[in-house]
Amino acid sequence: MTDLHRLSIRELSEGLANAQFSSRELTEHYLKRITKIDAQVKSYVTVTPELALAEADAADTLRKAGGANVLTGVPIAHKDIFCTQGIKTTAGSKILDNFISPYDATVVAKGKASGLVTLGKLNMDEFAMGSTSENSYYGATANPWNLNHVPGGSSGGSAAAVAADLAPFATGTDTGGSIRQPASFCGLTGLKPTYGRVSRFGMIAYASSLDQGGPMARSAEDCAYLMNVMAGHDAKDSTSMNQTVDNYVANLNDTSVKGLRIGIPKQYFNVAGLAEDVKARVEESLKKLEDMGATLVEIDLNMTESYVPTYYLIAPAEASSNLQRFDGVRYGYRCENPVDLMDLYKRSRSEGFGKEVQRRILIGTYALSAGYYDAYYVKAQKVRRLIQQDFLKAFESVDVIAAPAAPTTAYKIGANLSPVEMYLGDIYTIAVNLAGLPAINAPVGFDQNNLPVGLQLIGNYWSESQLLSVVHQYQQVTDWHTQRAAIAEENA
Ligand code: GLN
Repeated sequence: MTDLHRLSIRELSEGLANAQFSSRELTEHYLKRITKIDAQVKSYVTVTPELALAEADAADTLRKAGGANVLTGVPIAHKDIFCTQGIKTTAGSKILDNFISPYDATVVAKGKASGLVTLGKLNMDEFAMGSTSENSYYGATANPWNLNHVPGGSSGGSAAAVAADLAPFATGTDTGGSIRQPASFCGLTGLKPTYGRVSRFGMIAYASSLDQGGPMARSAEDCAYLMNVMAGHDAKDSTSMNQTVDNYVANLNDTSVKGLRIGIPKQYFNVAGLAEDVKARVEESLKKLEDMGATLVEIDLNMTESYVPTYYLIAPAEASSNLQRFDGVRYGYRCENPVDLMDLYKRSRSEGFGKEVQRRILIGTYALSAGYYDAYYVKAQKVRRLIQQDFLKAFESVDVIAAPAAPTTAYKIGANLSPVEMYLGDIYTIAVNLAGLPAINAPVGFDQNNLPVGLQLIGNYWSESQLLSVVHQYQQVTDWHTQRAAIAEENA
């Protein structure tokens, strides 16, 4: 079969179960595509063909022995922020260029236990700081829809790999939009779960109170399959919640769009910098949901203007603390010929971290310093609570909240926006992380340059099933999610 990469996760699962193809054939098919096509997309930092084929053979053997489950033998690729035993984990940084983790992240371990086959590790902005994936030490990744544009970030490698059919689905992480924005830029479905739904164990930390792993795929259905693997309590992560996990696949038809109250925050559609095409596509998708029986309710989210300043104090503050461990002593990059310990620390960190990471360490250290802690960090925490309350109040009258995922479509590679311009692009995603809420991106059309536009739906705590279900209903009657970039149509 030459078009295995066109099959959905459910079709892959059924094809494997019916012995239409083996996991080895499927895995070889993807490896061949990666060899041929990824030279242009550059979505992978590391490809692991030997491991993948060994896992595929083991999956085929297990299946013959009758021990297979629903995803046994299906390939996946992981964002290079998830630790993988025996395979390099870089987090997009030079400082971890030689780092091989002694253990698997819980998400990776769960994937293996479910029989998933590891194709490799995907490019990302260094330590997940960025919105373009250009902040990677390993070079920029291209957007499959237009190779001169970025795939978004920080999970840009994950988005590009799936959009170019170089992996059937992928893991991503979202601290301030890094699943939803690249999903939006690449025409994919991506879910950022409630904080605490997915284990952060072995996921290299950026801002621990905001970080959350989640699935990136073509459709809500594909995401649901991966959520069934990723979600759940983990004793190794004290912030993961001990709460029943839904069967996200079984629940895909449980929420009806009929009667669904969708909140439309008036502040969100007046944001300076919201591109006309984005606004138009998002409004058309809302009209479609209305035709399907939803009610659109105008709501107020009064804290909108404080999102960017609040996030860009809290996230760098936590980052500056988390990144202290990269000191050139225990693991990772170490500078040449240090004259003393101070010189070792300073030069290892200056040479090992890129510009954006250093900027955030400086901002965060400043915000946490004795003289400024109350004025910046404590103040930001108070505003964070107000942002959360704003959402909770809104959820008293609506079921979900709609927004663009990003104010624009994908930037050009090398556009070189100033840090503040770049940060303002996060306006629609970061409040969700500050509040710890779940949110999903769904593709809803294209701009005049044929770049994808995304609709974001934000749900109340633990409403992942509902979000997946609403998008699934939408995807039953629309075909944006099945459209493919030209490069994905190429055969290897
Ligand atoms: N773009 C945001 C940032 O640079 C979000 C990144 C993320 O979610 N990891 O921090």
